Amino acid sequence: MTSKPSLTCEALINQAADRINSDSPRLDAELLLSHITGLGRTSFRAWPEREVTESQAETFEALVAERVAGTPVAYLLGHQEFWSLPLKVSASTLIPRPDTECLVETALGLPLPEQARVLDLGTGTGAIALALASEHPGWRITACDEVDEAVELARENSRLLALPVSVVNSSWFSQLEPARFDLIVSNPPYIPGSDPHLGEGDVRFEPASALVSGTDGLDDLRLIVTQSPDWLVEGGWLLVEHGFHQAGPVAALFRDRGFAEVRGLQDYGRRDRMTLG
Ligand code: GLN
Repeated sequence: MTSKPSLTCEALINQAADRINSDSPRLDAELLLSHITGLGRTSFRAWPEREVTESQAETFEALVAERVAGTPVAYLLGHQEFWSLPLKVSASTLIPRPDTECLVETALGLPLPEQARVLDLGTGTGAIALALASEHPGWRITACDEVDEAVELARENSRLLALPVSVVNSSWFSQLEPARFDLIVSNPPYIPGSDPHLGEGDVRFEPASALVSGTDGLDDLRLIVTQSPDWLVEGGWLLVEHGFHQAGPVAALFRDRGFAEVRGLQDYGRRDRMTLG
């Protein structure tokens, strides 16, 4: 007689966590089981012997198999939290990173008018624009992306969260209506094409167009820094995210283009990840 596989939350999570190869295997397993059962993650610890149904266990196993094969948890759940906002994600956009919340925090600390005009270049899911909109209902925020699916997704997130952001289909500035902004923010692609990091973890499943930018990773940042002054009001700000080895070259781009008050800023892990001018 074969013994029935255990259907307790604890057993399912343990077996999954043993197989998932990530920085947080147990968390990944808990998030997937929570997604399927509708049970809160903390309940798995409070009541580990609780059983799920056979069909829930089967659905869980299917998702775990995909996670074991490397699919990011956010793609399996269909959403990712950013700035405490539940954002829908899809395989056509970058998964918003907690590091980028640091960029949001920096933007919120700038001296800007009550009705600031703000532009988020390469918005993806809409993460940065929507986070800013959630804090400043008075700001007039435009977000753009060159990928149709990203534009649709950012619009959908804006609608679902009831946060007004005007989302435009545009590769950087090319399709934008002429305007002047108080603040331009961007988390553009900045990984060099040959970076071995691209062969590891979640980035393998994310769109290269959201990650890679030429041989030195700076092609898009060069364009953004060069063109931004034509889209900023006098005294307006440009704030960009970049890789932690790029702070020097990016600051040089800002200075060469005539930006004043160029400041390098660190992310929550104390790495040089943002430049403001
Ligand atoms: N920080 C991300 C990573 O290294 C990349 C984000 C980006 O290219 N904008 O995975």
